[in-house]
Amino acid sequence: MLVHICCSVDSHYFLQKLQKDYPDEKLVGFFYDPNIHPYSEYYLRLLDVKRSCKMLGIELIEGEYDTENWLEAVRGLEHEPEKGARCAVCFDRRFEVSAQKAAQIGEKTFTSTLLTSPKKSLKQLKTAGDALAEKFGIAFVAPDYRKASGTQEQNILAKQDQLYRQDYCGCLFGLTMQRDQQQKLADELFVPISGQVQPESIEARIALYEKRWKLEEQGTPYRIVKQRFLNWRLKFAQLKVRKEVVAAHILPYSTLRGEYTRGKIEYATGDVYHMSRDEVKFITLETYNRLMQTAYISVTELLFDPPPFEEEVTLRNRLGFSPFDLSAVVVTEKIPENKIELLIQSETYSDVQEKLLTI
Ligand code: SF4
Repeated sequence: MLVHICCSVDSHYFLQKLQKDYPDEKLVGFFYDPNIHPYSEYYLRLLDVKRSCKMLGIELIEGEYDTENWLEAVRGLEHEPEKGARCAVCFDRRFEVSAQKAAQIGEKTFTSTLLTSPKKSLKQLKTAGDALAEKFGIAFVAPDYRKASGTQEQNILAKQDQLYRQDYCGCLFGLTMQRDQQQKLADELFVPISGQVQPESIEARIALYEKRWKLEEQGTPYRIVKQRFLNWRLKFAQLKVRKEVVAAHILPYSTLRGEYTRGKIEYATGDVYHMSRDEVKFITLETYNRLMQTAYISVTELLFDPPPFEEEVTLRNRLGFSPFDLSAVVVTEKIPENKIELLIQSETYSDVQEKLLTI
């Protein structure tokens, strides 16, 4: 039986139920989810599905990440709410490709972990699955593993086996709508040009889950714990000196009262040069290199290849600032001597991150 898989939280429980109910059936997992955006999130969910299938001894096939075809299929439905017409197309498309795959590899039956989703009625899914099964000359299996305390059992299992729990359905449209409603930044969509891994970004989660994979292979006990912390994202920044754009690096947690300020350097305290307005501070690249023990030859080089975020945040301490300091700190090659204009669009916000602890 080919089992279309959408994520590990759904599949881990669903596959174990199938193994019990169909003991003579060889199950083949099929991860086909081109709806998931961005690719890093797709990769992270796949990573956890691989782990789950390995635990359960189930072969897994990765489908094509044909996101352009998916986008084409939902064209015109971008503004539909979740559970609306876009979701219907999204479910149908994943069903159809799964049925096709099952027939192609010679399976007689297919099913999908989407059957556990509260987004569609089981009856509707069964009708769609049966029609596709008929088209490809196979059968559709539609067990109801949500009934009784199924959903509760699924959650207990997900916690017990420390599965990766995504907090949005998958696509770009659903994500942006959800974050708008939550009045929360869609920080999943931020990847700085420097490639620096931001705290609680998808890239940070991938690093954590890959490390967890290694610990499991070594047999090292671990725990994934949650921590509330202050997060930050830089959306845009620009420094102008006498109306000319100047290369500048903005330190993490730099925040302005508004988005724009202007002024002049008023005084210096040691290596730190203070602007006349909005608590803005400047340091030279030379100071940065000395305190961070780096050897950047230009700010542009620093911009494209900065140290890891966790190391960079320690610079505020080294400059003698308080741990709660959120002033804008700008690194330039020379301290500006003329009129300064600074634009910083950043968000500083309370967030929750996962940490991997060995025990
Ligand atoms: S919200 Fe979820 S089900 Fe709906 S279209 Fe997006 S990914 Fe598909």
